[in-house]
Amino acid sequence: MASLYVHVPFCPTLCPYCDFHVVRRGPGWVEAYLRRLGEEAQALHARFPEALDTLYLGGGTPSYLRDRELVALFQSLPWRLAEGAEVTLEANPGTLSPGRLRLLKDLGVNRLSLGVQSFQEPVLRFLGRAHGRKGALRAVEMALEAGFRVSLDLILGLPMQDVEEDLKKAASLGVGHVSAYTLQVEKGTPFALLGLKEDPEREAWAMERAEALLGEAGLFRYEVSNFAREGEEARHNLVYWRAGFWLALGPAATGQYPGRGAFYALRRTSPPLPRWLLGEPPKEEALSPLEHAKEALMLGLRLREGVDVAGLEAKTGLSLWPLLQEKVRELAAEGLLAVEGKRLKPTPKAFPLLHRVVLALWEALEG
Ligand code: SF4
Repeated sequence: MASLYVHVPFCPTLCPYCDFHVVRRGPGWVEAYLRRLGEEAQALHARFPEALDTLYLGGGTPSYLRDRELVALFQSLPWRLAEGAEVTLEANPGTLSPGRLRLLKDLGVNRLSLGVQSFQEPVLRFLGRAHGRKGALRAVEMALEAGFRVSLDLILGLPMQDVEEDLKKAASLGVGHVSAYTLQVEKGTPFALLGLKEDPEREAWAMERAEALLGEAGLFRYEVSNFAREGEEARHNLVYWRAGFWLALGPAATGQYPGRGAFYALRRTSPPLPRWLLGEPPKEEALSPLEHAKEALMLGLRLREGVDVAGLEAKTGLSLWPLLQEKVRELAAEGLLAVEGKRLKPTPKAFPLLHRVVLALWEALEG
């Protein structure tokens, strides 16, 4: 348990496509949040005191907290950081300044995930973002100058967007990591209520262009939506994709813990802010070894490195290969999987078809 996710649910404005657990700050809310977070952190640390290898503050917009609130947040986390730990903070461009970056450095943050989304004004306006092109470029420049590892978030495939222009700009800035997503119109969001539709063809083309243009700049597609220079991969997120265990704090945060008895893992999801503040405990979902194996296949196949079925068999005590091998052979013959021993790797052709590949393997597991 060497990884911790902390959810900071506050944002200055709410983007019309967002379905994360976010709120605007009301009087006293951040103080109440920090108090409860401190209590939760103490209780979790008593059970899992190991030094952290990765710490990720996500949201919401953690960088929207004021300086003294950020200091209080870090002070409320009792864990030691392991040597070389990765400490990531999600930030919006408008919330960074040289002084703010110095503070983040002092607090131990060494990686910033910047919610840039696009460098084009019409796209940023469409997405309801609070920053413009200049602000985005300035934030990236300042963060790199201050010595942070920088990851950019981009949204690709929007109707008014020059996708290649955004990708070339991102590739030219010298960042080590780019997360490139296509717009998901999630139920209940203002975009969904406006009847906006996704455009799968355009989106598939945009991801192909991302692979090509970011790849030319040395940012390789190591995960379906993530591109990095060698050694710049997001270590924290790799814990999720490799189906590991991690601790979680904060409202609506999900952690995955070792299971008990017949269960391989226990997933715990905290309630939203108002109920979390009242101390309502997380919802628990126990995962059997087979459920874990299915998830590990689904997540592992998002990675270029793929998933090692032998390792999964050792972890779960299940004999998976005999159930999978015929389907694996078929998918390999279709050019969707590369097979090395018992390691299954998605081919570039498989990335847009992962859903089908995963379902086929799940069916094989269920007999
Ligand atoms: S800044 Fe990010 S978390 Fe906040 S509302 Fe916008 S998309 Fe959601």
